[in-house]
Amino acid sequence: MNKKKLNKLIKNFKSRNIEVLHFETSDRLKEYIKETIPEGSSVGIGNSKTLKSMNLSKELSKDGYSVIDKTFAQSKEESVKLKKKSLFTEWYLTGSNAISVDGKIVNIDHSGNRVAAMIYGPDNVLVIVGINKIEDTLNEAILRVKNVAAPLNAKRAGYNPPCVELNKCIDCDSKERVCNYLVVIEGQMEKDRLKLCIVEEEMGF
Ligand code: SF4
Repeated sequence: MNKKKLNKLIKNFKSRNIEVLHFETSDRLKEYIKETIPEGSSVGIGNSKTLKSMNLSKELSKDGYSVIDKTFAQSKEESVKLKKKSLFTEWYLTGSNAISVDGKIVNIDHSGNRVAAMIYGPDNVLVIVGINKIEDTLNEAILRVKNVAAPLNAKRAGYNPPCVELNKCIDCDSKERVCNYLVVIEGQMEKDRLKLCIVEEEMGF
C-alpha cells in the first residue's frame, strides 16, 4: 500500500480512537497476536475467510488459548451458544468486509454477533484486514460490502439470494437474504479498545 495513503488512513483512524497496526505479512501478524494476547486467555472469533486463511482458531487452540469459534459447533444450537459466549471473552478477533481511508469500518452481518462483539463485546478487539478491503471513502466501502463481500459470503455460507447469480446487490427481500445489519463503525469511545491490523496481502473477500 502506498505510504502516503497508509499514513492518511492511520491519521484518520487515530483521530477516532482506533490505532492502526501495519504488518508486511499475515505470518508476522500471527506472531504479534501470540506475543500480545496472554497465554490461556479466552479469545472469541468472528467467522471470517481472512481468519480461516490464517488458521488462527486451530493454532491458538493448540497453543493453549480458550478459543470460542462458532464454526467448531456440532449443531445449530451449539453455534448460537458459542456466538453468545464469544461476546464475553477477553479478546475478540475478526475480519471486516471493508474499511475506508477516511476512517470507517464497514460490515454487513447476517445474525449480528460479529458486529455486536466489535461494538460492545470484549475489552480487546483486533480487526484484521488485507489490502483488498481498503477503499478511499465510506460510500465506496459500502458498495464493496454490498456488491463484493455479501454475495461471496452468502455463497460461502450456503445461501442463495439473487446476488449470488448476479454478482451485485439488488437489496432483495429473499428468504435467503444474508444482509440484516449494515454497520459503520465511525470511532471508539474507549481509546484503542479496538485496533485495526492491516496486512499487506490480499485476504478474504
Ligand atoms: S440484500 Fe440480498 S441481494 Fe443484496 S447483498 Fe444482501 S442478500 Fe445479496
